[in-house]
Amino acid sequence: MVAVNNYDVVIIGAGAAGLAAGRKLHDAGKKILIVEARDRIGGRVHTTYDFADTPIELGAEFIHGENAATHDLVKQAGLHTIPVDRYGKLRWAQYSRPALPVNELPAELRATITGLFMHYRDLPKHAPQPDVSLGQYLRERGWNEEALKIADVLLAQTCCASLEALSCADLIREMRVDHAGKQEFRIKEGYGELLKWYSRDLPIQLNTSVRDVIWGEKGITVVTTREDYYARQCIVTVPVSILSRGSIRFNPPLSDDKQEAIAAFRTEPATKLIYRFHEKFWDDDLTFMCHTGLASRWWTPAYGHEGDNTAVIACFATAEKAQILDEQEENRALTWGLTELNWLLGTGERDLRKAAIDSRRVSWGFDAYARGGYAHLPPGESPAREVLARPEEGLLFFAGEATAYDTNPQTVHGALESGWRAAKECGV
Ligand SMILES: Cc1cc2nc3c(=O)[nH]c(=O)nc-3n(C[C@H](O)[C@H](O)[C@H](O)COP(=O)(O)OP(=O)(O)OC[C@H]3O[C@@H](n4cnc5c(N)ncnc54)[C@H](O)[C@@H]3O)c2cc1C
Repeated sequence: MVAVNNYDVVIIGAGAAGLAAGRKLHDAGKKILIVEARDRIGGRVHTTYDFADTPIELGAEFIHGENAATHDLVKQAGLHTIPVDRYGKLRWAQYSRPALPVNELPAELRATITGLFMHYRDLPKHAPQPDVSLGQYLRERGWNEEALKIADVLLAQTCCASLEALSCADLIREMRVDHAGKQEFRIKEGYGELLKWYSRDLPIQLNTSVRDVIWGEKGITVVTTREDYYARQCIVTVPVSILSRGSIRFNPPLSDDKQEAIAAFRTEPATKLIYRFHEKFWDDDLTFMCHTGLASRWWTPAYGHEGDNTAVIACFATAEKAQILDEQEENRALTWGLTELNWLLGTGERDLRKAAIDSRRVSWGFDAYARGGYAHLPPGESPAREVLARPEEGLLFFAGEATAYDTNPQTVHGALESGWRAAKECGV
């Protein structure tokens, strides 16, 4: 194929990181092209507007933190946020009993939940040397296996990992650079509207998958399923799970350090089970309820929409729990979710299967361009994050949530900030 276009910078991927890099470079007058394999922008941000009256997030849902960079964009776009106090209003269920607010739980269980959060927050004070898993750290602080099952739901599931696979050193690194804050929000109009606004007038080539990146002093050729593109610089923002599968070939190969860093990351499945009912079986104050079951964490996507009566509830499972839900036929997984929902809501004899108008499983582990939820680092591998972010020879640059070593990885705002960082490294 003959290269048809020359660019200052070609950006691979139109997720939050790619759009952030593209926005900065384009606004600074650079000739750029964003190349995206999907038929839509957003990547792991994907809002659907046809499941319910309110926007429903199939991917990223919350803005994590009152200071997250996302808020500035929300304001500029003229959009709105809805505060959601998930952890302050947490309800927990024991075995197959209904979920109760933490302060109504038996004293011992309440002490376990608050103690686990406290030990998690205290991680930087204890900084295990050498690095150990979060599971090991908690065990060393005296928590038994029952408590660790609770920690798995409340601490590790959020990170799309198992307790035994999460590096304490990497969690501590994040706590030290965290500037986002603890409050959480949803975007009223949906994350999709934000990225639509943010990507306005950017040159984006959809339905175009990158196969090879041939790079050297004379320039870069980005070989795609559509055309070849020439550039002086290239920003790679695809998930690290895509890089580790070798879906994009680099010629010459990336440096040994970079390849080792890529290989160090793990990306586990992440699965949402989303249900819409005729009526709400829960009170308006419900934001978050959890238990140690398979469908372990539930929330109410339409929470706080003024005057809204949308009866939608969603379960978000990750790692092994998501894998088990993914291995089942979709209807079976959705039915299992309803069984556990019945316990949690205490809806007893009511047949939730009959009451559900619509339901959907969203399995990011099956997604060809994500191959899982978001990446984490196992014990001993914490330095890989910064190495993943490092440019190669001033020609190739790297952004995306996994590269967010100086902010919060695994988040949209971390991905945005990584894109801005990469644009700066390109000279803007
Ligand atoms: C289910 C789920 C829930 C989440 N919840 C939250 C949340 O509540 N809050 C939060 O802040 N974050 C959340 N996240 C994480 C957040 O979605 C990500 O951190 C962020 O969106 C990642 O952005 P990115 O640009 O790094 O990657 P992506 O969004 O994955 O963008 C990379 C892009 O590269 C494209 N691509 C891949 N391969 C190729 C190729 N060969 N050629 C061209 N293009 C390619 C992909 O299609 C994709 O569009 C969640 C993620 C998931 C999956």
